[in-house]
Amino acid sequence: MAGRPQRVADAPLNTPMTLASTYVAGGDLGYGRFGNPGWSALEEAIGALEHGWALAFATGMAAANAILETLPRNGKLVIPSNCYLGVAALAQDRARRDGLQVVPVPATDTAAILSAAEGADVVWLESPTNPMMDVADLPTIGAALSGTATRLVVDNTFATPVLQQPLSLGADVVLHSATKFMSGHSDALLGALVTRDDAEFTQFDDIRKTQGATPGTLEAFLVLRGIRTLPLRVRAAETSARTLSHRLSTNDGVSRVRYPGWGSLLAIELPTAEDADAMTSATRIWVNTTSLGGVESTFERRRRWPAELANVPEGLIRMSVGVEQVDDLWLDLLQALQGTGSR
Ligand SMILES: *Cc1c(COP(=O)(O)O)cnc(C)c1O
Repeated sequence: MAGRPQRVADAPLNTPMTLASTYVAGGDLGYGRFGNPGWSALEEAIGALEHGWALAFATGMAAANAILETLPRNGKLVIPSNCYLGVAALAQDRARRDGLQVVPVPATDTAAILSAAEGADVVWLESPTNPMMDVADLPTIGAALSGTATRLVVDNTFATPVLQQPLSLGADVVLHSATKFMSGHSDALLGALVTRDDAEFTQFDDIRKTQGATPGTLEAFLVLRGIRTLPLRVRAAETSARTLSHRLSTNDGVSRVRYPGWGSLLAIELPTAEDADAMTSATRIWVNTTSLGGVESTFERRRRWPAELANVPEGLIRMSVGVEQVDDLWLDLLQALQGTGSR
């Protein structure tokens, strides 16, 4: 129901795209940068899934930036020592520019996170983390920080609201790169923030307006369409990811499998960067590409990016399981792994 037009005779089933840069004066929207019926429909759907009020942004990074924009000069930010590299770079940029104190802490070390949270403006978590698949104890951290001046931000891109709803675990703000699972078809960039706090919502809305971090009309339409199959895609891919994680962990060519036991993402470690490069270039179904959360299975060696954090192993391959037949996916991986062993 959320995000769908009113059910009246001859109404379209889908919220149509409103291609408008401006609106006739006298209403609530005013100008194209301030609002769009298509964004509202999408925000209704994301808000319903995360149990809060959502705002759509141009990209996940635009949404992340809107959060950092709310931090005071010389503020304090606690982030996972392994987190999405774009967020790590953005935080470092703010540290250089206006003295933001950035404190990296392992996402799995709850005691260290809570002690670093003393005097922090924001504790930023990703769970599972990209690409190391570390899982944070959100219920404990959420409970400890609730009612304090420290806001808890959770990047829920990997888990999706199908598997985890951070606002219900004590988070103040949820971030999504909707580019990934919500869109689900590798054809759109979009970000979202969700909160239950009125003042925070207004602040994010103002930042989106003034900084022009607004989503495209087509992108909002595509993500809303993607969300219609989100639970089906996530569950199907999760079943396959679980199977693949078991099979990979018994393979001699794989040094380590990082899989939290749920979700459709995993990471494997091969002994060397060369092994990992050989594997990612030897598959026919799996696509060697960045990004994740699409219906097609994709993987990449993360350290091929110079900006990737140095604590990510050289031979680590992040894998995003799609909705293809699991045995086809497995045989494709197996033949690629055999290639790495015989080099
Ligand atoms: C991709 C990603 C982002 C950034 O989102 P974009 O839509 O690419 O700007 C942020 N966090 C995580 C965990 C991601 O995977």
